Amino acid sequence: MGPDWAAVFGVADADDLFEHFQAERYRGREYRYLPDGRHGVERGTVILGDAVVRGFPSIPRVLVLDPGVPEYFDGPVAVEEKLDGYNVRVADVDAGDWAELGPLAFTRSGHVCRYTSETVRERYPLADFFDDHSDLQVCGELVGPENPYTAHDYGEVDSVAFRVFDLRDRETGDPLPVAERRALCEEYGLEQVRSFGTYDPAGAVAAVGDAIDELDERGREGVVLASADGERRLKYTTSAIHRSDLEHAFALPFDYGREFLFSRVIREVFQAVERDEDAEAVRERARALGESILLPAVETVRAVERGDPVGDEHVVRGDPEVLDHLFAQFRDQGLELDVRDDRREGDERVVEFVKLASATRDKTEYYLDGGTIDE
Ligand code: ATP
Repeated sequence: MGPDWAAVFGVADADDLFEHFQAERYRGREYRYLPDGRHGVERGTVILGDAVVRGFPSIPRVLVLDPGVPEYFDGPVAVEEKLDGYNVRVADVDAGDWAELGPLAFTRSGHVCRYTSETVRERYPLADFFDDHSDLQVCGELVGPENPYTAHDYGEVDSVAFRVFDLRDRETGDPLPVAERRALCEEYGLEQVRSFGTYDPAGAVAAVGDAIDELDERGREGVVLASADGERRLKYTTSAIHRSDLEHAFALPFDYGREFLFSRVIREVFQAVERDEDAEAVRERARALGESILLPAVETVRAVERGDPVGDEHVVRGDPEVLDHLFAQFRDQGLELDVRDDRREGDERVVEFVKLASATRDKTEYYLDGGTIDE
């Protein structure tokens, strides 16, 4: 008999929940993943045989720190750096023929990613950790210039790095308290996100203000605040990342532009007001924001006019066979790639490529050719 799924997920009717799962295959084995959050179960939750890996929960954002932070937390608040990369959960699934694969890495949406699995396994002492804590999943951000999904550079990372921000029960998703998590990561040599310290809620407002000043100056993303038990979280981000998100989005305006614009403008508005900026400072913010939208878009339209390919640029480095699988995965997803360079460096293969942005290319060509728009 299999597990009592209704009890595992805390739902009245497991069949009702299971209808929303989709099937996928990884190295000849079938697993199921939940593409959207349902019945209190997080998006990206995965079932492999009898084993469950819960999805990573959504973190609410605060736009005004005071009174947002003291209203949200009623005890000590840990302030940690928020990194800009992609969310990875690593779990050692012990069910059936999954057990022989070792620790696996899952993307936010619940896909097993072979490239990420191999990358984190090769670089981090996860086997030792899972020998002692197979009930936990390790949640972190994969960052750095040489990764296939995101493009934010961190000066301290040459290629890719994995930074842990959570240890959670694999099956229930319950987090470890922040202090316990940080101590365990330290003990097993798992690199973690930077801590800015723990404060009472009022003190956290000032601490976040200082942290944001420093991170903004250095072009970094922001902070995540957590209650001591790890249950409640908030995120808050820098003006620098709002602008760099817009630069990225408007470099491919017809692929990403709209979905990024309103939220970033609103974040800037409330940040300017809370910081009580004078007319000159707001004008400077407005100029920088406008430049982050218009300059990359103009450059892209000029590139299309010249006939150059446009899209997201990436570099990946790794085992040649693993990269073969990554590119096969991109083909299956229907992505069009422009490979700029494909070389060997020792045992590693390094590929520089562009994920072509077809909406931006096609719409831009249409308008350049005199196409009309109904608005
Ligand atoms: P949501 O949180 O609503 O799912 P999202 O997927 O757009 O939103 P972000 O706004 O980027 O994500 O913020 C949440 C993500 O930030 C987390 O899923 C995680 O991948 C990443 N992250 C980076 N650093 C941290 C950190 N220190 N603590 C928690 N999450 C972090």
